Order: sequence, then structure tokens, then C-alpha cells
Amino acid sequence: MAITSNNLLLPVSVCEACRLPRSRIPCKDYTNDQCVFKCCGREGIKGCNSKKSIRNSSKLFKSSKKTLMEIVRIIFEYFVKGLNACEAQREICQYYPIDYKTIFKLYKYTRKIISEYITQQARETKLGPTNVIEIDESVFARTNNHKSGYDIHKKNAKIWVLGFFERNTKQARAFIVPDRSKKTLLKFISDNVAEGSTIYTDSWKGYNGLCENYAHKAINKSERRPSKYGECGTNQIESLWSLIKRDICKYSCFKKNNIQEFINESLWRRQFKSIDERIQSLISLFQIKH
Ligand SMILES: [Zn+2]
Repeated sequence: MAITSNNLLLPVSVCEACRLPRSRIPCKDYTNDQCVFKCCGREGIKGCNSKKSIRNSSKLFKSSKKTLMEIVRIIFEYFVKGLNACEAQREICQYYPIDYKTIFKLYKYTRKIISEYITQQARETKLGPTNVIEIDESVFARTNNHKSGYDIHKKNAKIWVLGFFERNTKQARAFIVPDRSKKTLLKFISDNVAEGSTIYTDSWKGYNGLCENYAHKAINKSERRPSKYGECGTNQIESLWSLIKRDICKYSCFKKNNIQEFINESLWRRQFKSIDERIQSLISLFQIKH
């Protein structure tokens, strides 16, 4: 079974009492997995017959009562095929009667794991120093649940996001920031970009001071036409904003509080574009590390 061969389930479970490996045996009534681990003993040694669900080894499968295939299918429709949660539910319900809540719980769980991976990846390395990095900040508006449309006058409705785009490698990062003051921006930039790198930004005053540790070029967008930005424009980070905002509209409608997780999910979709890449990435995220 592909799920076992990819280490999404452990091949054996060891009985804590007898210290013997349990065998996987067919079982109809224990769970809907059609099999279970049972402590059957070994030549000459009697086992205690204790049973353990084959799911106990994986948080992904442990968290749901659905069959393994149903869980895989639910995750596939949304994270791999790219349907949004409502479309995915409609698609899945043609084959299995699964309620909305179960599906959303699995998406939330998977999104959290993806988001942690993206955060960890950014923490491990810095961008630069030999590649040019575009940096820009953008406002994400949060709607209130009872009204549609943007409500940027509401307290906490404005969310500032700071984005990084490394040319050549096309690596991207984006973080919610508490504000866009010089102090905040410089802190995030020094955490993410190696000293000595070349950075392009717009002329927002929060970027003043970058020239101490970086080769900084600021473009005044109001004075110059886009065609004259030339080399040092910030077009690519601006394309990243459209991509992330489009994804967030599709997958969360700005209604969720955990926008950073949706931003990370969007960065993950951008990093793993093909069906194969996404499947491989999910398998490695869900894999049991021995
Ligand atoms: Zn035992």
C-alpha cells in the first residue's frame, strides 16, 4: 500500500508490555482500516494479544475517523489539485458522504504543518548575499464577518505584510509585521537578508538606514514612470502580492484570523507547482521520522 511504503504508517508496532513486534492482521470490526496491529508473540513466546490501531503512528490519520483513502482524497483535492474548500467538498461528496467540519478540520491541520515548514525554511537560511532582493510592504485588509468587502477603518482591519523576492532563485518570503516603522522593517530585513546584499525597495521612509549594511536602491514610484524603473524596479515582488492576495481570496476570503498560515500556504503552492511536487512535499511533511 502506497501509504505504508511512503512511511505514512509504521510497518510494525512494538508491544510495550512484551517488547515484541506486533503483527498486522486483517480485522473487520476494530476500525474501518480493515486491519490492526496485534501482539501475537513469536516462535515459542506467547504474545499478550493486545491490539493497536495502525493509525497510532501518524497524527494525520489519528486525527480522523475517516478511512485512510478518504483522508488522502480530501487532502488531494484541496492541496494538490487546488480546489477551494467548498469545491473540494462538493467533489469528494460525490464518492463519500463526508461532512464539512471533518473536511475543514483536515485542511486546518494540514495547513498548519505546511505553514510550519515554510516558517522553518525561512528561519534556516538568509537571502543573498550575491543575488538582488526586492522588498516591499503591502496592506492586507480584513473584512468583518457580517459584511462583505473591505472594512479598513475598523480597528485591526489593516494588516501589513512585508515581502521578499530574490531574483535569480525566485525565492519568496512574506511575513505579517506589526507596523511598517523603520525599526520593525530593519529587524525583519536583517533576519532574512545577508549583510552586503543588494536590496531594491520603494521610497517609503521605513527603509532609510538600509544603506548601512546593504547596497540599497530606492525607487520613487510617484515621480517615475514604470517603464523608467528599469533594472531596479520592484515589479516582481508586486506580482507576488497579486498572487498571494488572489490565493487568499480563493482559500480564505480574508475572514480568517490566521492570515499568516494562508500566506504560507500560498508560498507553498508557489514553490511546489506540479501535482508530483505537491504530493512529494506532502508525503515528506507527513512522513514518520524514525
Ligand atoms: Zn504484548
